[in-house]
Amino acid sequence: MNPKLWNKTAPLGRIEDYNKVLPVLEVYRCIQSEGSRFGRPTIAVRTTGCTHRCFFGEGGWCDSWYTSIHPEKGGFTFNDIVKIYDENPHVKEMMLTGGSPTMHPALVNELTHFANERDILITIETEGSHYLETDYPIGLISLSPKFSNSVPVVGAMTPNGSITDEKMVQTHNRLRLNTEAILATMAYHTDYHYKPVWDGTDEGLAEIEDYRQKLNIPKDKTFVMPAGDTRETLIEMYPLVFEMCAEHGYNMTGRDHIIAYDTKRQV
Ligand code: SF4
Repeated sequence: MNPKLWNKTAPLGRIEDYNKVLPVLEVYRCIQSEGSRFGRPTIAVRTTGCTHRCFFGEGGWCDSWYTSIHPEKGGFTFNDIVKIYDENPHVKEMMLTGGSPTMHPALVNELTHFANERDILITIETEGSHYLETDYPIGLISLSPKFSNSVPVVGAMTPNGSITDEKMVQTHNRLRLNTEAILATMAYHTDYHYKPVWDGTDEGLAEIEDYRQKLNIPKDKTFVMPAGDTRETLIEMYPLVFEMCAEHGYNMTGRDHIIAYDTKRQV
Protein backbone atom coordinates (compact mmCIF):
# COMPACT_ATOMS: atom_id res chain seq x y z
CA MET A 1 0.00 0.00 0.00
CA ASN A 2 1.21 3.49 -0.77
CA PRO A 3 2.76 4.90 2.44
CA LYS A 4 1.61 8.37 1.44
CA LEU A 5 -1.96 7.13 1.66
CA TRP A 6 -1.54 4.90 4.67
CA ASN A 7 0.93 5.48 7.46
CA LYS A 8 -0.41 2.81 9.80
CA THR A 9 2.75 0.79 10.12
CA ALA A 10 5.31 3.53 9.53
CA PRO A 11 6.88 4.93 12.72
CA LEU A 12 5.87 8.57 13.03
CA GLY A 13 9.02 9.74 14.77
CA ARG A 14 9.46 12.51 17.33
CA ILE A 15 10.85 16.04 17.34
CA GLU A 16 14.28 15.70 18.96
CA ASP A 17 15.44 19.31 18.73
CA TYR A 18 13.00 21.75 20.31
CA ASN A 19 14.99 24.70 18.91
CA LYS A 20 14.71 23.60 15.29
CA VAL A 21 12.46 25.71 13.07
CA LEU A 22 9.42 23.64 12.11
CA PRO A 23 6.86 23.92 9.29
CA VAL A 24 4.72 25.96 11.69
CA LEU A 25 3.54 29.29 10.39
CA GLU A 26 1.46 30.63 13.28
CA VAL A 27 1.17 30.04 17.03
CA TYR A 28 -1.39 32.24 18.80
CA ARG A 29 -4.08 32.34 21.45
CA CYS A 30 -7.69 32.63 20.30
CA ILE A 31 -11.22 31.31 20.74
CA GLN A 32 -12.30 28.17 18.96
CA SER A 33 -15.08 29.36 16.69
CA GLU A 34 -15.97 26.26 14.69
CA GLY A 35 -17.55 22.94 15.51
CA SER A 36 -18.23 21.10 18.76
CA ARG A 37 -15.56 22.92 20.86
CA PHE A 38 -17.01 26.32 19.95
CA GLY A 39 -16.34 29.16 22.37
CA ARG A 40 -13.37 27.70 24.25
CA PRO A 41 -10.03 29.50 24.62
CA THR A 42 -7.39 27.64 22.66
CA ILE A 43 -3.93 27.92 21.19
CA ALA A 44 -3.85 27.70 17.41
CA VAL A 45 -0.84 25.93 15.90
CA ARG A 46 -0.94 26.38 12.14
CA THR A 47 1.28 24.21 9.99
CA THR A 48 2.17 25.10 6.43
CA GLY A 49 1.81 22.91 3.35
CA CYS A 50 -1.31 21.16 2.16
CA THR A 51 -2.23 18.19 0.02
CA HIS A 52 -5.17 20.14 -1.45
CA ARG A 53 -5.84 23.37 -3.39
CA CYS A 54 -9.43 24.19 -2.44
CA PHE A 55 -11.45 26.64 -4.49
CA PHE A 56 -15.09 27.11 -3.57
CA GLY A 57 -16.23 29.22 -6.54
CA GLU A 58 -18.05 32.27 -5.22
CA GLY A 59 -17.02 31.14 -1.72
CA GLY A 60 -13.45 31.94 -2.74
CA TRP A 61 -10.15 30.17 -2.24
CA CYS A 62 -9.10 28.30 0.88
CA ASP A 63 -9.11 30.96 3.63
CA SER A 64 -5.60 29.85 4.67
CA TRP A 65 -4.26 29.95 1.10
CA TYR A 66 -0.90 31.15 2.42
CA THR A 67 -0.41 27.59 3.78
CA SER A 68 -1.78 25.71 0.80
CA ILE A 69 -2.09 27.39 -2.60
CA HIS A 70 0.93 29.64 -1.95
CA PRO A 71 2.58 28.10 1.13
CA GLU A 72 4.79 30.37 3.22
CA LYS A 73 7.76 29.03 5.18
CA GLY A 74 7.38 28.06 8.82
CA GLY A 75 9.18 30.10 11.48
CA PHE A 76 8.37 28.57 14.88
CA THR A 77 10.12 25.98 17.03
CA PHE A 78 8.60 23.44 19.39
CA ASN A 79 9.87 25.60 22.24
CA ASP A 80 7.65 28.43 20.96
CA ILE A 81 4.65 26.15 21.44
CA VAL A 82 5.79 25.20 24.95
CA LYS A 83 6.30 28.87 25.77
CA ILE A 84 2.82 30.03 24.81
CA TYR A 85 1.28 27.33 27.03
CA ASP A 86 3.60 28.35 29.88
CA GLU A 87 2.35 31.92 29.43
CA ASN A 88 -1.31 30.84 29.27
CA PRO A 89 -1.73 28.09 31.87
CA HIS A 90 -5.54 28.52 31.80
CA VAL A 91 -5.68 27.30 28.18
CA LYS A 92 -6.22 23.56 28.00
CA GLU A 93 -7.01 23.18 24.32
CA MET A 94 -5.04 23.21 21.08
CA MET A 95 -6.34 23.79 17.58
CA LEU A 96 -3.88 22.07 15.28
CA THR A 97 -4.68 23.41 11.87
CA GLY A 98 -3.13 24.22 8.53
CA GLY A 99 -2.70 23.66 5.75
CA SER A 100 -2.75 19.97 6.34
CA PRO A 101 -1.12 19.08 9.69
CA THR A 102 -1.06 15.35 8.91
CA MET A 103 1.69 16.07 6.34
CA HIS A 104 3.97 16.46 9.38
CA PRO A 105 3.70 13.17 11.29
CA ALA A 106 6.63 13.68 13.69
CA LEU A 107 5.32 17.09 14.73
CA VAL A 108 1.79 15.80 15.27
CA ASN A 109 3.15 12.86 17.24
CA GLU A 110 5.29 15.11 19.43
CA LEU A 111 2.28 17.33 20.11
CA THR A 112 0.33 14.31 21.37
CA HIS A 113 3.11 13.67 23.91
CA PHE A 114 3.05 17.33 24.98
CA ALA A 115 -0.75 17.33 25.23
CA ASN A 116 -0.72 14.16 27.28
CA GLU A 117 1.82 15.64 29.75
CA ARG A 118 -0.12 18.91 30.10
CA ASP A 119 -3.68 17.53 29.98
CA ILE A 120 -4.44 19.49 26.80
CA LEU A 121 -7.16 18.47 24.36
CA ILE A 122 -5.98 18.64 20.75
CA THR A 123 -8.47 19.32 17.99
CA ILE A 124 -6.85 18.54 14.66
CA GLU A 125 -8.43 20.02 11.56
CA THR A 126 -8.00 17.61 8.71
CA GLU A 127 -9.38 16.92 5.28
CA GLY A 128 -8.51 13.26 5.91
CA SER A 129 -5.73 12.75 3.39
CA HIS A 130 -3.47 10.77 5.77
CA TYR A 131 -4.04 8.44 8.69
CA LEU A 132 -1.56 8.93 11.55
CA GLU A 133 -1.37 6.41 14.37
CA THR A 134 0.07 8.79 16.96
CA ASP A 135 1.56 7.50 20.22
CA TYR A 136 -1.37 9.06 22.11
CA PRO A 137 -4.72 9.30 20.34
CA ILE A 138 -5.82 12.81 19.41
CA GLY A 139 -8.72 14.23 21.44
CA LEU A 140 -10.88 15.42 18.55
CA ILE A 141 -10.65 14.88 14.81
CA SER A 142 -12.37 17.77 13.05
CA LEU A 143 -13.00 16.14 9.72
CA SER A 144 -13.72 18.29 6.67
CA PRO A 145 -13.59 16.05 3.60
CA LYS A 146 -13.30 17.99 0.39
CA PHE A 147 -16.14 17.42 -2.03
CA SER A 148 -16.51 18.30 -5.70
CA ASN A 149 -17.38 21.91 -4.78
CA SER A 150 -13.75 22.38 -3.66
CA VAL A 151 -12.10 21.50 -6.99
CA PRO A 152 -10.24 24.44 -8.61
CA VAL A 153 -11.51 25.62 -11.99
CA VAL A 154 -8.89 25.82 -14.75
CA GLY A 155 -8.31 29.48 -15.62
CA ALA A 156 -9.35 30.89 -12.21
CA MET A 157 -7.01 33.45 -10.66
CA THR A 158 -5.33 32.36 -7.42
CA PRO A 159 -4.84 34.68 -4.42
CA ASN A 160 -1.42 35.81 -5.66
CA GLY A 161 -2.58 36.29 -9.24
CA SER A 162 -1.44 33.00 -10.81
CA ILE A 163 -3.77 31.16 -13.15
CA THR A 164 -5.09 27.72 -12.20
CA ASP A 165 -3.93 24.94 -14.50
CA GLU A 166 -4.70 21.24 -14.89
CA LYS A 167 -1.72 20.28 -12.70
CA MET A 168 -3.24 22.14 -9.75
CA VAL A 169 -6.53 20.32 -10.27
CA GLN A 170 -4.70 16.97 -10.29
CA THR A 171 -2.79 17.87 -7.11
CA HIS A 172 -6.06 18.74 -5.41
CA ASN A 173 -7.75 15.49 -6.43
CA ARG A 174 -4.84 13.12 -5.68
CA LEU A 175 -5.70 12.52 -2.02
CA ARG A 176 -9.22 13.94 -2.03
CA LEU A 177 -11.80 11.76 -0.25
CA ASN A 178 -9.27 9.20 0.96
CA THR A 179 -12.04 7.16 2.61
CA GLU A 180 -9.77 4.37 3.83
CA ALA A 181 -7.58 6.84 5.72
CA ILE A 182 -10.63 8.73 7.02
CA LEU A 183 -12.24 5.59 8.46
CA ALA A 184 -8.99 4.56 10.14
CA THR A 185 -8.62 8.05 11.60
CA MET A 186 -12.16 8.04 13.00
CA ALA A 187 -11.64 4.60 14.53
CA TYR A 188 -8.25 5.19 16.18
CA HIS A 189 -8.54 8.63 17.75
CA THR A 190 -10.63 9.55 20.80
CA ASP A 191 -13.47 11.46 19.16
CA TYR A 192 -14.41 13.16 15.92
CA HIS A 193 -16.92 15.43 14.34
CA TYR A 194 -17.77 15.77 10.68
CA LYS A 195 -17.53 19.39 9.56
CA PRO A 196 -18.33 19.65 5.84
CA VAL A 197 -18.44 22.98 4.03
CA TRP A 198 -21.73 23.67 2.25
CA ASP A 199 -21.96 26.04 -0.72
CA GLY A 200 -25.75 26.38 -0.65
CA THR A 201 -26.44 24.04 -3.59
CA ASP A 202 -28.60 20.90 -3.71
CA GLU A 203 -25.70 18.97 -5.28
CA GLY A 204 -23.39 20.03 -2.47
CA LEU A 205 -25.90 18.95 0.14
CA ALA A 206 -26.39 15.59 -1.57
CA GLU A 207 -22.64 14.92 -1.44
CA ILE A 208 -22.47 15.85 2.25
CA GLU A 209 -25.38 13.56 3.08
CA ASP A 210 -24.19 10.66 0.90
CA TYR A 211 -20.76 10.71 2.52
CA ARG A 212 -22.27 10.98 6.01
CA GLN A 213 -24.31 7.86 5.33
CA LYS A 214 -21.37 6.05 3.69
CA LEU A 215 -19.26 6.61 6.82
CA ASN A 216 -22.19 5.98 9.17
CA ILE A 217 -21.71 9.33 10.92
CA PRO A 218 -24.60 10.36 13.20
CA LYS A 219 -26.29 13.67 12.48
CA ASP A 220 -25.43 14.93 15.97
CA LYS A 221 -21.71 14.60 15.07
CA THR A 222 -22.28 16.59 11.87
CA PHE A 223 -21.57 20.34 11.89
CA VAL A 224 -22.28 21.95 8.54
CA MET A 225 -20.21 25.05 7.89
CA PRO A 226 -20.98 27.77 5.33
CA ALA A 227 -18.58 28.29 2.42
CA GLY A 228 -17.02 31.73 2.55
CA ASP A 229 -13.67 33.32 3.33
CA THR A 230 -14.86 36.88 4.04
CA ARG A 231 -17.40 38.44 6.40
CA GLU A 232 -19.53 39.52 3.45
CA THR A 233 -19.78 36.09 1.81
CA LEU A 234 -20.44 34.37 5.13
CA ILE A 235 -23.24 36.73 6.14
CA GLU A 236 -24.97 35.87 2.86
CA MET A 237 -24.56 32.14 3.52
CA TYR A 238 -25.56 32.03 7.21
CA PRO A 239 -29.38 32.14 6.74
CA LEU A 240 -29.20 29.37 4.12
CA VAL A 241 -27.23 27.12 6.45
CA PHE A 242 -29.47 27.90 9.44
CA GLU A 243 -32.57 26.95 7.48
CA MET A 244 -31.07 23.85 5.85
CA CYS A 245 -29.73 22.49 9.16
CA ALA A 246 -33.04 23.11 10.91
CA GLU A 247 -34.82 21.23 8.15
CA HIS A 248 -32.43 18.26 7.94
CA GLY A 249 -31.36 17.84 11.57
CA TYR A 250 -27.64 18.64 11.30
CA ASN A 251 -25.78 20.94 13.66
CA MET A 252 -24.83 24.28 12.17
CA THR A 253 -21.42 25.77 12.79
CA GLY A 254 -20.52 29.31 11.87
CA ARG A 255 -17.07 30.77 11.36
CA ASP A 256 -17.28 33.51 13.96
CA HIS A 257 -13.61 34.52 13.77
CA ILE A 258 -14.27 35.64 10.17
CA ILE A 259 -17.49 37.42 11.18
CA ALA A 260 -15.55 39.20 13.95
CA TYR A 261 -12.30 39.94 12.13
CA ASP A 262 -13.03 39.43 8.42
CA THR A 263 -9.80 38.41 6.62
CA LYS A 264 -7.39 39.33 9.43
CA ARG A 265 -4.92 36.55 10.23
CA GLN A 266 -4.00 35.03 13.62
CA VAL A 267 -7.39 35.58 15.25
S1 SF4 B 1 -7.64 21.20 2.65
FE1 SF4 B 1 -8.01 22.95 4.02
S2 SF4 B 1 -6.03 24.03 4.14
FE2 SF4 B 1 -5.92 22.63 2.38
S3 SF4 B 1 -6.51 23.90 0.62
FE3 SF4 B 1 -8.37 22.88 1.37
S4 SF4 B 1 -9.31 24.33 2.81
FE4 SF4 B 1 -7.18 24.96 2.48
